[in-house]
Amino acid sequence: MSQTISEKILAAHCGKASVKPGELISAKVDFCLGNDITAPVAINEFRKIGVSKVFDKNRIALVPDHFTPNKDIKSAEQVKVLREFAKEMGIVNFFEVGRMGVEHALLPELGLVLPGDLIIGADSHTCTYGALGAFSTGVGSTDLAACMATGEVWFKVPESIKFNLNGKLPKDVTGKDLILYIIGLIGVDGALYKSMEFAGDAVYELSMEGRLTMANMAIEAGGKNGIFPVDEKTKAYVKEAQKAGIRIAEPKFYASDPDAVYAKVYDIDVTKLEPQVAFPHLPENSKPLSKVGNIKIDQSYIGSCTNGRIEDMRQAAEVLKGRHVHPEVRLIIIPATPKVYRQIIDEGIMEVFLDAGAAVSTPTCGPCLGGHMGILAAGEKTIATSNRNFVGRMGSPKSEVYLSNPAVAAASAIAGKIVGPKDL
Ligand code: SF4
Repeated sequence: MSQTISEKILAAHCGKASVKPGELISAKVDFCLGNDITAPVAINEFRKIGVSKVFDKNRIALVPDHFTPNKDIKSAEQVKVLREFAKEMGIVNFFEVGRMGVEHALLPELGLVLPGDLIIGADSHTCTYGALGAFSTGVGSTDLAACMATGEVWFKVPESIKFNLNGKLPKDVTGKDLILYIIGLIGVDGALYKSMEFAGDAVYELSMEGRLTMANMAIEAGGKNGIFPVDEKTKAYVKEAQKAGIRIAEPKFYASDPDAVYAKVYDIDVTKLEPQVAFPHLPENSKPLSKVGNIKIDQSYIGSCTNGRIEDMRQAAEVLKGRHVHPEVRLIIIPATPKVYRQIIDEGIMEVFLDAGAAVSTPTCGPCLGGHMGILAAGEKTIATSNRNFVGRMGSPKSEVYLSNPAVAAASAIAGKIVGPKDL
């Protein structure tokens, strides 16, 4: 029976030759994760189950990334719950401040999530790992508790939507622009409980960072998961990541059958696309940069699990080099992992950022969810490379968040208003 890549991965994990959309399955999970907001709830539920051990101490990650280094007593108590549970259960992948990065940047970088895996995480952006050809999705804390106890969770097999991205990508159009364009096209519920499968020539042109950014935002269209085909770039990325030697497992490479069935197919010509900016207060409010108008900003934030990787830092540095942040703008840059932090120092990017007048933080989610490190006051506007611009997402409910790629966020920090690098 012809199947999509997502269906093949789900079938392989529930011991069947094939699965159909709508079918309820119980599947074995390769890896699961929680963070400092969701894992304490999951741990509480885990204790109610009454088991004394987790299913596999090597295949769970606890990543305290949201309010760390702890911003207050409550956040310190949350992380303490994770730390003590990890110690009690012998969970290997607990990441202390200094080794911790934003979960969805950290786990692929360390080879903890692999092609062909079935992964769940108590965080909606767990869909990020689909960039590697894995089926990964966000779940609630009770599902994470059940998974930590049994290594299994139930799924309803999603229908798939295929996005054929054809044509030559313009130089200034990134994965972030493609996904903002797609969400603008189909809306924030356009892929509700569907698998978003990305295909077409342009997909292979994207770097792994670009693919991770796109898969990360599948949930912003309501997608159950986002998934990419595996190619040589994927294999090279995974080979490098596995050098960390933390998870010893063979990646498995699946591909959709040519006659697999899709609920819908979109054919998108990327040749004439521009960088996109999503206006408040939904990611679907995306517009091409040339249609943005005159929008002054108070802050620019470059980071998050969407755009806090090394390619994002390099793109921002290219724009900031030899320039200065506008006197009325705060530019906050947060490399997503310790590796990226070290890379920006080694590559001289840190100096570019500091010379430009940016504040550069240790890895954290921080301002992305209005946690700390850049909260907005009423009436303030920020451009941000993160994934959500809901009301109050980064601070006051009367503030505004505009989403963009890193080069646009950097150029806007210099101009004091939303512009692209070509406008400087
Ligand atoms: Fe969530 Fe933002 Fe952290 Fe990503 S960076 S995990 S979206 S809070």
